[in-house]
Amino acid sequence: MNLMIYNYFGEKILKIMIRLLFNSIICVFISVVCLSCKTDVKNDTKKTIPNLIVIMADDLGYVDVGFNGSVDIPTPNIDRIANNGVKFTNGYTPYPVCSPSRAGFMTGRYQQRFGYERNVQYRTDDPNMGLPNSENTIPEILNQAGYTSGVVGKWHLGAHISKHPLNQGFDSFFGHLGGGHRYFHEELVIKDSYSINDESMSYRTWIMKDHTPVKIEQYLTDEFSDQAINFIEENQKDPFFLYLAYNAPHGPLQATQKYLDRFDDIKDKRRKIYAGMVSAVDDGVGRILDQLQALGIEDNTIIFFLSDNGGPETKNASNNGPLREGKSSIYEGGNRIPFAMQWKAEIAPMVYDFPISSLDILPTIAELSGATIPSDKPLDGVNIIPYLKGEKEGRPHHTLYIRKYDEDLYSVRDGDMKLVTKKKNSIKELYNLSEDLGEENDLATKRPNEVKRLDSLRQSWNTELIDPVFLGLIHTDAWKKRSKTQP
Ligand code: CA
Repeated sequence: MNLMIYNYFGEKILKIMIRLLFNSIICVFISVVCLSCKTDVKNDTKKTIPNLIVIMADDLGYVDVGFNGSVDIPTPNIDRIANNGVKFTNGYTPYPVCSPSRAGFMTGRYQQRFGYERNVQYRTDDPNMGLPNSENTIPEILNQAGYTSGVVGKWHLGAHISKHPLNQGFDSFFGHLGGGHRYFHEELVIKDSYSINDESMSYRTWIMKDHTPVKIEQYLTDEFSDQAINFIEENQKDPFFLYLAYNAPHGPLQATQKYLDRFDDIKDKRRKIYAGMVSAVDDGVGRILDQLQALGIEDNTIIFFLSDNGGPETKNASNNGPLREGKSSIYEGGNRIPFAMQWKAEIAPMVYDFPISSLDILPTIAELSGATIPSDKPLDGVNIIPYLKGEKEGRPHHTLYIRKYDEDLYSVRDGDMKLVTKKKNSIKELYNLSEDLGEENDLATKRPNEVKRLDSLRQSWNTELIDPVFLGLIHTDAWKKRSKTQP
């Protein structure tokens, strides 16, 4: 009986042991398979989804980069992007001043569709002053595809906490909330960015790291370059989006001796400082490109370099070359800007002459990443990659528009013809940009049918827009006072 019991339990134990061993082998097998699947997915993701870096300068003139012909300000590092990839000769932003231009870029939509048509006031107490939270931003779209997104530099899409980059889809922020900043660290004396509601004071706040004020100890442009490098270092293993929004070379004109010393040949004092500021940006771009190379991720990183609007030549001594007027204008100097991109893995070096827009950056990266665009917010930008690869022919945009509500100004570029309308549409000018880049030869009286055709495009687009939803910088007392003293 005892022997039978022993045999019975012995057999049971043996069976249990065999089952345990079998289960363990299965578990190990499944784990190995899963691990290799995961590794494959990760490798595939890393291989196919590109990183995105957008380097946006502020108020940079059209010819103030080497790749557009700058003679007195060499930009060898920014030029590397154009030489490695695409130089866009007809690169535009959707508006000729900072804040609305950035709202369009960040959403891929004409910002007038959601009432963003004025430079925002620095108002930390107004939740309506800035980019509506209902719009979809680039980091919100890329979040679906597993990107980590950071902004370094100038935000300028609203100073209320609800508009903070971390509340608009970004994972990290190092910068200032307002439209500009002083560059020398000893001039940044206001610790709490939320303690003020004034444009000029906002230029003197401490820098914010996420939600925390930090005291910096070097020239602001160099600080932003360092922080961009840190972000790339920390996020190199996963797909990332870095929006590096240098506030340079927007005023005030301030450069350190290190950069001024490079421009002994420039005798104009303001131009010399401006050149130093651009040179500091160029150094930062060079360090970023070197770092991407050293980390082995340069090939599959898409890098855009552009300005947010044209140069305000009389204010910061920038140079728009042959283009008419500058920042704030609806002529070409207002929003045709230095624009280049590289994506070494996919795009061969070229010059691209058809018009493209900063509105195109969101749809381009969205499609490459496999993210979907919510259908209730249709985009105005397009994915430009098939055009650059020659898979699609013709123009990415046949028509591009500007409306400036407060001044009742419009421009319509259709093909190479451009209509400008002013004063409740009573003045109409027509230019052929393919032969008249400087917009000097008004063809309106010679080609009335063309005026009519472009004007009907303008009217049709206008019906899709809404009125501005917040007041702008021009409505502040400080601005009105300044306008009275400076005609
Ligand atoms: Ca600007």
